[in-house]
Amino acid sequence: MDALRLTTTRRNVVRGIATSVVGLAFASPSLAQSAPRVVVIGGGFGGAGCARALRRINDKLQVTLVEPSRTFVACPFSNEVVAGLRDLDAQQFGYDRIAADGVAVIAQAAASVDPQKRTVGLADGSALGYDRLVLAPGIDLRFDALPGYDEAAAAKIPHAWKAGEQTLLLRRQLEAMDDGGTVALAVPAAPYRCPPAPYERASLIAHYLKAKKPRSKVLILDAKDAFSQQRLFETAWKKFYPGMIERISLSQGGRVVSVEPATNTLVTDFGNYDAQVVNVIPPQRAGRIASLAGATDSTGWCPIDPVTFASRLVPNIHVIGDAMIGGAIPKSASAANAEAKACANAIANLIAGMAPAMPRLEGTCYNTVAPGYAFSLSGTYQPRDDIFAEMEGAGFTSPVDAPVEVRKREADQAQSWFKSITVETFG
Ligand SMILES: Cc1cc2nc3c(=O)[nH]c(=O)nc-3n(C[C@H](O)[C@H](O)[C@H](O)COP(=O)(O)OP(=O)(O)OC[C@H]3O[C@@H](n4cnc5c(N)ncnc54)[C@H](O)[C@@H]3O)c2cc1C
Repeated sequence: MDALRLTTTRRNVVRGIATSVVGLAFASPSLAQSAPRVVVIGGGFGGAGCARALRRINDKLQVTLVEPSRTFVACPFSNEVVAGLRDLDAQQFGYDRIAADGVAVIAQAAASVDPQKRTVGLADGSALGYDRLVLAPGIDLRFDALPGYDEAAAAKIPHAWKAGEQTLLLRRQLEAMDDGGTVALAVPAAPYRCPPAPYERASLIAHYLKAKKPRSKVLILDAKDAFSQQRLFETAWKKFYPGMIERISLSQGGRVVSVEPATNTLVTDFGNYDAQVVNVIPPQRAGRIASLAGATDSTGWCPIDPVTFASRLVPNIHVIGDAMIGGAIPKSASAANAEAKACANAIANLIAGMAPAMPRLEGTCYNTVAPGYAFSLSGTYQPRDDIFAEMEGAGFTSPVDAPVEVRKREADQAQSWFKSITVETFG
């Protein structure tokens, strides 16, 4: 085991048990050596869930969660915030209960990883030693992928693909726009975080416009031809928002190739589109720390062994959540939660010298197209041929012709899902 080195100050550790765990771990080499150390980078659905699960499985493990934000802002249901149906407060979660579970929560960003020394460098220059490292940094937006769309442009043209201030910016722009204006969404090619979420967003923006600015329209410029649950969305759009949502697919010339922020213009190979409100969802890749750790390949994502979530590129590192790429499993909170628990089990088994169990991951994704009207898609995924494959016959997609009571029930189930996943992750 590597020697532990602590230069982290207590001020950076969020309260309670967390402080004493870190203090003990670094003050006493003999104790440190007796307790395997797992460091988790990223306190979102994947990382926070994994840290808690590790402590639940084996309370002898020293688990440290490294996350710069003291408040996590959840993306699921953030489209409701954009549409003025929900407050951002309902999306916010803290780390106190995770700390109370005995996880050392360090409120800093991880700045580097040294896989040889097995250390994580923190933003303040200190370092943490690990036996196993879990990377769960989510996504980074590729501000180099669409000419004209960089971080400065995002302050004017929101992506709202990481929830928080960006979500509110898009909401304010919708509130400020004129009746009769167009809202244009640029949607990237796969893979990206939450495949159906752009279409849920278009639906809920149309809901807002229908009520407040009924002469307005939503234009989707899409870098794909087909999309997740397309028939369900398009049928619902005809029912609720006839003539309000127009989608231009890839083969119709919908792929946005650059952005002109000064004029709110989206440029495609076939023409330019100006809109009063523009929402650019840019291409994405694994959070930057994953590439600093050497865990990303040329796609920008992290290839993994689906049985243990072990990186295929760097030893003793596991990757979960949106940052990893492993076959059919989508980039969703639901999947990140399932991966978090399976990865925690695999790590606990590996540390105990036991063979990891074969994971079976289940996830459900709800899409709300109007208040009280939602549909879902669920799938079950298992390792096959070294990647996650969807198990045939084990999934479910809401039928296109389901009666309105079924849609209402699914909208209620979506609310319950959000409640239970956030309680399970953050306490
Ligand atoms: C509009 C929208 C709607 C969505 N709706 C749904 C839905 O209905 N259902 C669903 O299942 N999914 C939904 N998703 C997808 C879901 O939000 C993500 O798939 C999920 O958050 C992925 O979890 P994660 O842990 O990989 O990443 P995140 O939850 O983003 O967490 C990553 C964490 O890592 C931290 N981090 C990054 N870099 C570092 C570093 N260097 N050091 C320390 N910490 C770091 C970040 O601060 C962040 O807290 C939606 C997404 C969007 C954009």
